[in-house]
Amino acid sequence: AEAALRRAQTLEAVGQLTAGVAHDFNNLLQAIRSGLYLLSPRVPETSRRVLDASLQAVDRGAKLVRQLMVFARREGLEPRPVDPRALIAGLGELLQKAVGAPVAIETAIAADLWPALVDPTQAELAMLNLAINARDAMPEGGTLTIGARNARLAVPQGGAPAGDYVVLSVTDTGTGMPPEVLERVLEPFFTTKAIGKGTGLGLSMVHGFVTQSGGDLRIESRPGQGTTVSLWLPRAEAPAELPREELAPARPAPA
Ligand code: ADP
Repeated sequence: AEAALRRAQTLEAVGQLTAGVAHDFNNLLQAIRSGLYLLSPRVPETSRRVLDASLQAVDRGAKLVRQLMVFARREGLEPRPVDPRALIAGLGELLQKAVGAPVAIETAIAADLWPALVDPTQAELAMLNLAINARDAMPEGGTLTIGARNARLAVPQGGAPAGDYVVLSVTDTGTGMPPEVLERVLEPFFTTKAIGKGTGLGLSMVHGFVTQSGGDLRIESRPGQGTTVSLWLPRAEAPAELPREELAPARPAPA
């Protein structure tokens, strides 16, 4: 209970600081963006690529700031019914890149998965966070398994109320965690990684995101054997929406 309180207080302080900085940064980026747009008709063709690259950088910055605001202020989440398979498929290449060579990637995806009610962009980000932790736990290589299954809780369990969940998991065959690490991993800024390698914010942000989504985060770990981190996401009542690119082209409205 004491650890939970300390965690909540640190998270609150970090959240306020981050939200404040993110807010000011957002204003700055919008000012830069309007400036670049005003300049764009006057820029000679030879400099256009520079301008475009700058605009892209500003857009990336704006996206990052929005994500920071989601984690810090716990606002801006856009939950909708999502097909877990599509979500995992969407991770594909990014996951390969993030994880790299000596680690094999496998999947264990159950049939007839329910749709999950979650913000898909944030869920992907959370899974990438977990995958990077899994990779870091396997410096000599190993296997990373992405799992997905349905789960029904008849009674509340951990931080999750009774109900239906879609459970997305990342399992590694890495170092695992001793109990004294395991009990602190959700604390903001707690890291065992070298300076510059870890921020200690990954799991606390993922935890904030899933609880805010009405779900829960579970961690099972055995020193020397490996770790499974699971996102318990609430089941969506409505069927999953198709990803945007798979939607049929818009038809003109009937006269
Ligand atoms: P960071 O990755 O920046 O250290 P996290 O909050 O994501 O921050 O993780 C905190 C700590 O939890 C890590 O430094 C590591 O000690 C431990 N940890 C997280 N995931 C794993 C894992 N899959 N295997 C072993 N240890 C892990």
